[in-house]
Amino acid sequence: MLRVGLTGGIGAGKSTVSKVLAELGAVIVDADLIAREVVEPGTPGLAALVDAFGAGILQADGALDRPALAAQAFGSSESRALLNSILHPRIGQRTAELVEGAAADGIVVQDIPLLVEGHMGPAFNLVLVVYADEAERLRRLVEVRGMRESDARARMAAQATDDERRSAADVWLDNSGSPELIEAQVRALFEDRLVPFERNVRTRTVVPVPPLVRPSDPEWAAQGARLVERLRSVCGDRAIRVDHVGSTAVEALDARDEIDVQITVADLAAADALAEPLAVAGFPRIDSVTRDEPKPVYGVGGEADPALWAVRVHGSADPGRPARVCVRVDGWPGQQFALLLRDWLRADAQARLEFLEVKEIASAKAAAIADDDEAALTYVESVAPWFDRGYRRAWEWAERAGWSPGQ
Ligand code: ADP
Repeated sequence: MLRVGLTGGIGAGKSTVSKVLAELGAVIVDADLIAREVVEPGTPGLAALVDAFGAGILQADGALDRPALAAQAFGSSESRALLNSILHPRIGQRTAELVEGAAADGIVVQDIPLLVEGHMGPAFNLVLVVYADEAERLRRLVEVRGMRESDARARMAAQATDDERRSAADVWLDNSGSPELIEAQVRALFEDRLVPFERNVRTRTVVPVPPLVRPSDPEWAAQGARLVERLRSVCGDRAIRVDHVGSTAVEALDARDEIDVQITVADLAAADALAEPLAVAGFPRIDSVTRDEPKPVYGVGGEADPALWAVRVHGSADPGRPARVCVRVDGWPGQQFALLLRDWLRADAQARLEFLEVKEIASAKAAAIADDDEAALTYVESVAPWFDRGYRRAWEWAERAGWSPGQ
């Protein structure tokens, strides 16, 4: 199963997008509809509201009088909290029932107008945001949906800004053009991304990362931040920290199009306990890798101790966003080195240049190999020696700079 969050400002075209997704076979779970359903006449939800706020919140026919409820409930923070304590658990339970009722290979799209405002994005495998600029949304609400302009403006002003939505969006669906254009975008997204993503989550399949160095993408930082939030939400207390690391975390450094994230845990048992939740969230484990290349501990020397270089590696099931998620133990040298390497590369222009040169040579070597697996391996093997040398230099820099891994 794939869980997709769908949102957008009022009038942007959410309903239009969810209609196309439904036609394509997605299961739509509509938050507005559920919010109405749980307080229909005859429901325990409506009875609880009457208990709390009195029969004055009912119309003559016994249905909920929304303006009357609003007048009662929005008066104080206590009454608002009371309202939420009645509505939220019921909405949550009904939502969970509908999601759990979907087929094991279902693509469930939750249409939630206030997804960004409620910080719900990290709970989904993927967040889609439908966009149209304010003037166009206003025009559609007034001219097509027949809303009063002042109402439309008030609703828009109470919602998140476009920037807030943009930073929550894994997929930005621009609905500035014709209905045909947005429909074509949604169809392509469904076939090219949602269908294979769902299949990969179900079969625990990791998408391959082409071993090709690409020009640095200014979007990498925001994508990294979003993955970090999603992984934090999946790990909860089991993660001590979650960091965007690797080349894509270093501004303006060309890299393979793969976001590296490190999850720091207390011990290997905690890392193993994350295998299943991470897989469900879209990050299946790559069982063939269980340790980084062991190096002697800097400042201690002697033989490298392989036990200290244990790692659990997860890839991405999302064909639209390759990633590598490494789960490492707090304070172990591999965990420290991932943070150090990023910070050293951020600080040292010469190191960045050298590293880039090594990566470009590796990329060119890999490009000459037809077999994908072999090409990927060649890339990794040709950059590995640089890490062995870089390990020492990074720690020397750390001593000079007084570096510590921070929070
Ligand atoms: P939302 O669900 O995000 O509030 P809707 O999907 O209801 O927005 O769209 C708002 C109004 O604009 C609807 O009446 C819809 O038919 C119309 N609409 C949606 N997309 C377009 C488009 N690309 N061009 C013109 N009108 C559109």
